[in-house]
Amino acid sequence: MKLKQSLFKTIIFSEILKGLQLTFKHLLKGKVITQQYPHQKPTLPDGYRGVIVHLRYDDGAEICVGCSLCEAACPSHCITVESAEREDFPQKRYAKRYILDVTKCVFCGFCVQACPVDALASSKEYEMATTDKRTLMMDKEAMLTLGDQYFPIRQKRPQYSEDRFSLFKQMKEVGFPLAKKGSS
Ligand code: SF4
Ligand code: SF4
Repeated sequence: MKLKQSLFKTIIFSEILKGLQLTFKHLLKGKVITQQYPHQKPTLPDGYRGVIVHLRYDDGAEICVGCSLCEAACPSHCITVESAEREDFPQKRYAKRYILDVTKCVFCGFCVQACPVDALASSKEYEMATTDKRTLMMDKEAMLTLGDQYFPIRQKRPQYSEDRFSLFKQMKEVGFPLAKKGSS
């Protein structure tokens, strides 16, 4: 008897009919379940790791000191840092050239963790689809612009940095100790 029933169900495609019944039940209700992207944007969680951005201090100065630790920590080798000494502040360095290849990035956030001065952050930017891959080679300026957009509240520049800067200015006025020794 059971075999007959099962055979009958197979012949009339009962499983498919059940599935269609469920589909039409929800279809006729008219309730949209699928998120209507891009008209509806998803609400992303706070820990979301989108495109990596550069941050600035509250006075607008970029935080990055060009140490290349992010480049060393990146498992995808998608960061290139070329660092140089600041002309206005010897012994202080900055990233003269900073390139992030978004096509290689796996959004792991290791670079953010590795940065000793919190110059990087994961933004909630995910709409990077393009027909030109070259636009996905982001330079420092593009990353700073994105950072300004996603992180408008900036951290205060640390006082030690100001102190060092004023000490440097004073030293410049009175002369550096080594320079004095050499000249006498
Ligand atoms: S998020 Fe990961 S893969 Fe992307 S740049 Fe940072 S370290 Fe590299
Ligand atoms: S972003 Fe941070 S880790 Fe990377 S070069 Fe700049 S200061 Fe160093």
